[in-house]
Amino acid sequence: MTSGLLKDSYGRAIRDLRVSLTDRCNFRCFYCLPHGEPPIAPKEQMLSYEEIEYVSEIFVSLGIEKIRLTGGEPMMRRDIETIISKIAKLKPAGLQDLALTTNGYFLPGRADELKAAGLDRITISLDSLKRDVFKQMTGVDVLEKVLAGIDAAKSAELEPIKINAVIVRGHNEDEVADFASFARTQDVKMRFIEFMPLDSGHEWKREDVVSGREIRERINERFPLVPIDVERGSETSSRYRFADGAPGEIGIIAPVSEPFCGACSRIRLTADGQIRTCLFSTIEHSLRDVVRSGASRSEIIEFIEGVVMKKEPRHYINDPGFVAPSRTMSFIGG
Ligand code: SAM
Repeated sequence: MTSGLLKDSYGRAIRDLRVSLTDRCNFRCFYCLPHGEPPIAPKEQMLSYEEIEYVSEIFVSLGIEKIRLTGGEPMMRRDIETIISKIAKLKPAGLQDLALTTNGYFLPGRADELKAAGLDRITISLDSLKRDVFKQMTGVDVLEKVLAGIDAAKSAELEPIKINAVIVRGHNEDEVADFASFARTQDVKMRFIEFMPLDSGHEWKREDVVSGREIRERINERFPLVPIDVERGSETSSRYRFADGAPGEIGIIAPVSEPFCGACSRIRLTADGQIRTCLFSTIEHSLRDVVRSGASRSEIIEFIEGVVMKKEPRHYINDPGFVAPSRTMSFIGG
């Protein structure tokens, strides 16, 4: 069977591919890389830009509509404008959306080039608006640089701009309403993410998760919210606007307390060429080995279709005996 649109064994259409460009990162977020940098893949194991372009074209021919470049910190990979422009060329073939998730550090001075290369929009991580908490959570004292990165993304019109904050008990839950205020004044989509068991120290505890519900309540107390009445589809977040009509938007991503696996449309490709069918997969499938073995295009398609059929029905975070994947977000590609 070849060249159908990608569907898994539960009938979910796969439309969204996240491509990690590198395992490396210049931040040391405690919920991702708490114990320094684990060994990164040797260069020869990483997919080259030509390989990423080749497999992206195949994925788009199989119905992938959204590609998000991520990492590690994707802007640490050299010349990312090159891969952006190669992937942007897939738009006439059916790609509808090309996005990038970044910590924002390298954006000042680079955002215009990303836009010119064909990037549609950007998501920037920002875990605190306070310099000391930002440093404590990310391991680097660069809040000002990230805020400048957000400004740069705005002037480059990499919109809609989404800002991601992972909310962790005892660190930044007291800033939830301040982030909502930031969304209003900056006119950005502020997305709050529940802390997931994907940290390399395996120190995640359920008590550290600030639930989507609590986040909603904390915002509602200061800025009443109205749910945005759209079909959620495969979107990760539930979306809200401000009742008083202020600019900006709120998104709440609650994979732990309100799992949304039933509508998942995502698969991931790691920087070393492994397909992961779930953030929490404990097995990976080497697309790199298949491509490098000299497989024909139809053999590669058959491989991808077979892997997608193995996509897990759901994650098991809330089940007794849950085992966290051995690779952290920085390796999986968030
Ligand atoms: N370096 C880029 C960045 O900072 O956005 C892209 C990669 S990062 C792994 C992607 C996203 O995953 C970030 O928003 C990060 O906060 C989130 N993330 C990492 N570990 C997480 C965890 N344990 N729980 C929830 N989100 C996590």
